[in-house]
Amino acid sequence: MDYDVIIVGAGPGGIYSAYELMKTSPGLKIGVFEAGAELAKRHCPIDGDKIKNCIRCKSCSIMSGFGGAGAFSDGKYNITNDFGGTLYEHIGRDKAIELMKYVDAINLENGGEGCRLYSTAGTNLKKICMQNKLKLLEASVRHLGTDINYVVLENLYAQMKDAVDFHFMTDVTDVEVIDGGYAVSHKGGRSTCSKCIISVGRSGSKWMESVCEKLGISAKSNRVDIGVRVELPAVIFSHLTDELYESKIVYRTEKFEDNVRTFCMNPHGIVVNENTNGIITVNGHSYESKEKQTENTNFALLVAKHFSEPFKDSNGYGESIARLSNMLGGGVIVQRFGDLMRGRRSNEKRIAEGMVHPTLAATPGDLSLVLPKRILDGIMEMIHALDKIAPGTANDDTLLYGVEVKFYNMEVKVDENLETEYKGLYIIGDGSGVTHSLSHASASGVYVARDIVRKSGEKEAV
Ligand SMILES: Cc1cc2nc3c(=O)[nH]c(=O)nc-3n(C[C@H](O)[C@H](O)[C@H](O)COP(=O)(O)OP(=O)(O)OC[C@H]3O[C@@H](n4cnc5c(N)ncnc54)[C@H](O)[C@@H]3O)c2cc1C
Repeated sequence: MDYDVIIVGAGPGGIYSAYELMKTSPGLKIGVFEAGAELAKRHCPIDGDKIKNCIRCKSCSIMSGFGGAGAFSDGKYNITNDFGGTLYEHIGRDKAIELMKYVDAINLENGGEGCRLYSTAGTNLKKICMQNKLKLLEASVRHLGTDINYVVLENLYAQMKDAVDFHFMTDVTDVEVIDGGYAVSHKGGRSTCSKCIISVGRSGSKWMESVCEKLGISAKSNRVDIGVRVELPAVIFSHLTDELYESKIVYRTEKFEDNVRTFCMNPHGIVVNENTNGIITVNGHSYESKEKQTENTNFALLVAKHFSEPFKDSNGYGESIARLSNMLGGGVIVQRFGDLMRGRRSNEKRIAEGMVHPTLAATPGDLSLVLPKRILDGIMEMIHALDKIAPGTANDDTLLYGVEVKFYNMEVKVDENLETEYKGLYIIGDGSGVTHSLSHASASGVYVARDIVRKSGEKEAV
């Protein structure tokens, strides 16, 4: 075998598997194959000047490369089983929290020391939310910020680069079951291993689907979250963000009884484009360092759509809606809340005259031409509900960027070890559908690394 362990994908899931294997079993030969570039070479060409919109690079620097989709993220490591994935369903609640704390400790040792840990424990905001038909979810969140998150990744890479074989700009095109292990195909040929960890995240979702189909691993896709990113003056949310940094608030709509939730809150942050398989959606992040902070806060409002038989392609549904916004706006559309309520599109002039200065150059337009009525009604109801706990949320000048789609990878059938029916083939992180966050994906990486080490120890003992 060329390697003891091959890891496909160098996002948080892949990185933490490699890091744990390197630390606990220095004798193992580990190969990491990553479709994107190494950290220092990851640059998105959008400069807001010459290049304003996504030019669909062959490998998207935002989503791919060392650090994965998390490299330029806000670096919010949520320590909770309430959201961010369903890792606990496989490994148990206590284990999941223990591993998330373990990852947090590694982040602190590698540059994150001094970053604040926010918590919902004991906050009075829970009661205020409840009094206004809103539910605040429980969590502790370590906010590294985009800048410190990058430093942590740099430090992890510096420790690993001589102990682990990294193959960047190397898409794995196929995984085969061979005698005693697995073979992965890539531009350099074929590499073999005894154990294989696949951690390809959201950008690898289509490829993951094809691997599952080929190997007969069952997988189901029945959920997609669709919504908008809200941007407003930071002061409007400051009582929430100062205390909790990120508040995950859920609202149950009166009209359709759908759950709408806040997601990925970025105090003093910026709104950014996100490219998933060539479709441009919106996201957001913020910096820990004061110089890079803006006067705005942004967060997503998402409505979860669960489909039942016979419809199976929930991501296809989300993609079609995102494509529609790309068709109308050439990318992301931005609209003032006041314009949406009045049933008119926004234009450059009305946005320029507004009190909220957009942090993303998006095309002014009309989100009601893009989002299904049920979803749009839910979002508007939630904005009015949030206005009660954060007056000003429903102001005319509040900006809504669309569309934000949270694609869920298919849920791949893995057991309590995150192992497929093929022994030694693990599928982890967001690519498995089990996790949807930095902390859960990283924890899943540590978990499988420990399983591999434990099993190789048992084999040696026999
Ligand atoms: C802008 C942005 C902000 C975010 N902010 C937060 C946040 O603050 N907090 C939070 O918890 N989560 C956040 N997220 C989500 C978080 O980044 C992901 O949940 C996390 O990165 C998942 O880790 P992963 O390792 O499973 O997958 P990924 O990070 O997606 O990594 C997968 C890697 O696999 C590679 N790959 C894919 N296919 C192949 C292939 N065939 N061969 C080789 N390599 C392949 C990709 O290039 C990628 O580098 C954010 C995401 C984005 C895009």
